[in-house]
Amino acid sequence: MIIARYPGQWKVYRKECATFFERLKARMDKGILRCPLCGGVFDVHSYYERTVIEASGQTGKITIMRVICQETGCGKTQAILPDFLMPYKRYAAVVIEDSFNSVDNGGRIDECEAAAEASTIMRWIRYLRYSLLIAINALQGILLEKGRKIGVKVFSGKNALERLAIAAAERQFLVVTGDSGTGKTTAARKFVSMLDPMRYLHFYISDSNLSPRNFYFQILNQLGIKPKFFTGDAKRQMMEELAKIIDARRIPVVTITKRTCAIWKC
Ligand SMILES: [Zn+2]
Repeated sequence: MIIARYPGQWKVYRKECATFFERLKARMDKGILRCPLCGGVFDVHSYYERTVIEASGQTGKITIMRVICQETGCGKTQAILPDFLMPYKRYAAVVIEDSFNSVDNGGRIDECEAAAEASTIMRWIRYLRYSLLIAINALQGILLEKGRKIGVKVFSGKNALERLAIAAAERQFLVVTGDSGTGKTTAARKFVSMLDPMRYLHFYISDSNLSPRNFYFQILNQLGIKPKFFTGDAKRQMMEELAKIIDARRIPVVTITKRTCAIWKC
């Protein structure tokens, strides 16, 4: 599946998905949205209906577009899921994430505010803890949608420190994944403690609902600068500050830890 950014909630999508589909089709025609498996161009394949369930138990149907890779030898189809959904889950992503966060913070399953069976919630939690492929797909989907090729290096546990050091020195974007308890946070902390403060300036962001605005605000706050109110202004402000740091021959390093596989809408 490919996860595409969608700026509204599912009810908006239900009403206005035709526009969304047109936009996707235009991106496919321009070769911006391509097959994540082989880089081939896509064409529309079919549409199907799926159910969304809210925390209240209220349900609705939405239409999903399925696309097909035109490359000989690939020809794989992919569903394009708006990012308010999680793949193969009928509940809205926010309901699943809230339940996960609640249980992950020591809450009981029967305290979750989702109108779902305990066994269903348990299944979500297991799913989120093994969400490696989903997260990678999502990132690739977003990057492909933006027509940008950014290498996504994935590794877990072994040699993590070395690879983190390379990523920082080369100013790469790097994703560290691994099962719960394999030492991702420990590795990240150790890595940060090894950074030469003369060369690197480290920012630490831990936010399970990270939005672009939150991101700019957190970076600026950590620089001791009051962020401007509007997202666009805060972004420019952050870029200016980061440029100053780079001009001073220091490399900004940002560590983001995420407890769920919610997509970072950049
Ligand atoms: Zn393909």
